[in-house]
Amino acid sequence: MKRIAVRNLRLCTKDCLCLYVCPNGATDTENSIIDTEKCIGCGVCADACPSGAISMVPVEYPPQQKKDDAVIAAMNRVAENKAKAENVAMQIARDTDKPGLRKLMKAIARSSRLSAEDILREAGYMLPQSGNSMNMIQNLLDNPPGPGFPSDAAESILSSLECNDGGYSRKSSGTRRYKCLLCQTEFEVAEGEEPVCPMCGAKGDNLELIG
Ligand code: SF4
Ligand code: SF4
Repeated sequence: MKRIAVRNLRLCTKDCLCLYVCPNGATDTENSIIDTEKCIGCGVCADACPSGAISMVPVEYPPQQKKDDAVIAAMNRVAENKAKAENVAMQIARDTDKPGLRKLMKAIARSSRLSAEDILREAGYMLPQSGNSMNMIQNLLDNPPGPGFPSDAAESILSSLECNDGGYSRKSSGTRRYKCLLCQTEFEVAEGEEPVCPMCGAKGDNLELIG
């Protein structure tokens, strides 16, 4: 499996050993981000770094292992409950005038958020290049949750990543993307056209708008 080096800038103490040992000058960059075009994946820099700031990562990741639908549904319910617990804890933290209680509620909110994120990763969102994650980003791009949503960053992720499980394909402009809930086929129709599943003919409530 081909690997390349990546540097964690928060751990880097600028000892510059990686610059010294790299046989290809890949670590010597203006912005401190290792040049992926030059890196040949030898791993010498990671071995030399005294701060553990360099990791060797695969260039391509295999698709995430599939889980049973019932397991995914249960994980989604648990994640939803964790999100509710976070909201309740934050509300109490905002309302209380007791510093100890506020601190406790903030800790519970943080813990609930971390648990929800972990559960959702396990439920199929481990990698940004999975169909699940890319469809989610596309949905956010199509229906931004607020004026501060970073549409440029979302667009950049979708155009630079390649989906690794065939679950996402770029939507053509002027179209809507649907998923058939009966046969799971994904398809596009032009804006304003009635969506009908090309595989089984399903319409209406049997279709989910996904982008
Ligand atoms: S060897 Fe490690 S700590 Fe030193 S400059 Fe390179 S990445 Fe940073
Ligand atoms: S893995 Fe090898 S080529 Fe790549 S940056 Fe490190 S030392 Fe240089």
